[in-house]
Amino acid sequence: MLLKDSKITVIKIGSSLLVDDNKKIKKKWLSSFAEDIQKLKSKNQKIIIVSSGAIALGCIKMNINKKNLKLDKSQAIASIGQIELMNLFSQTFEKHQLNISQILLTLEDTEERRRSLNAKRTFENLFDLNFIPVVNENDTIATSEIKYGDNDRLASRVAQITNADTLILLSDVNGLYNKNPKIHKDAKLIKKINDLNKYLKKIDIKGVNEYGSGGMHTKIEAAKICQLSGCSMVIANGLHLNPITEIIKKNNCTWFLPKVSKLDARKKWIISSISPKGELIIDDGAKKALKNGKSLLAAGIKKVSGKFKKGDHIKILDKKNKEFARGLSSFSSEEINKILGQHSKDIERILGYISKSEVVHKDDMVKIK
Ligand code: GLU
Repeated sequence: MLLKDSKITVIKIGSSLLVDDNKKIKKKWLSSFAEDIQKLKSKNQKIIIVSSGAIALGCIKMNINKKNLKLDKSQAIASIGQIELMNLFSQTFEKHQLNISQILLTLEDTEERRRSLNAKRTFENLFDLNFIPVVNENDTIATSEIKYGDNDRLASRVAQITNADTLILLSDVNGLYNKNPKIHKDAKLIKKINDLNKYLKKIDIKGVNEYGSGGMHTKIEAAKICQLSGCSMVIANGLHLNPITEIIKKNNCTWFLPKVSKLDARKKWIISSISPKGELIIDDGAKKALKNGKSLLAAGIKKVSGKFKKGDHIKILDKKNKEFARGLSSFSSEEINKILGQHSKDIERILGYISKSEVVHKDDMVKIK
């Protein structure tokens, strides 16, 4: 999918694009970015912006150093900075006749199906009203267990929920290189990746993880989510003025192309869960049954790990601990510990109440190819 044909585009911008090394806000850059957005909007593209910068702008306002900030303090700073961030967007975008709105998300808003559908509907209504949603993590209340912690994965989950065609990660590097470009002069920029997993086996992933302000790791995780959910993703250097025009004209960036996916929206949501709460290790018999499109029964489960509730996302691993599928559990981890290895007809007797017989129903499961 070419950027110009994208109907819904999510664009993530990192703090380093909004604030320079001297802690000055890059107003000229933001204005050139708004100009680009205006061009995309004039072609009827629907745009969502995911912007970092709450903490960075909060620190500027309070004249404190971002380093060494403890979580509770950074939550307060994010609360101060988020309003600065939105003021900056609103003042700049207004000059380009663009309306913006704010959406703050926590991990649970995308990991719980009902909440993710609510979020999707809000995005759609904002598109209808001709507003551009500007998203950030709700840093003020997100504690470490319920935190994305990075806007790369948050942006990929937003792209998946809204069924976006393209996710643009604007960073301070040109894209993904085969080696760390800061160390190796002969490092090559990879222009296009069709099969990410295959590619990751070929490159020195440790080396490439260490460049770019937020690191490559979260960007690659975001690319995996996009690939599974049928969304093209691009990592591009956002430091130029008019960064989107630059991608369209020069294409000096890395594109991750999605797999053709036959999964429906709900299954795409299941496979791209960010924080599965636990794992079920299954035997070979169950693995074979799952391969044949059957549900997972208690009899085939060998071990449970993690603590989870009914309805939570879990990973299904084979005997060799290799992730084989993902799904939503119909039982809590506590219940599964009581019924694993048991025949379905005995579940009611063991638990003392009537329940489903499948631990993970086939409709709630996606196999990983
Ligand atoms: N949500 C954080 C902020 O606005 C940034 C997270 C990130 O940069 O990935 O300051």
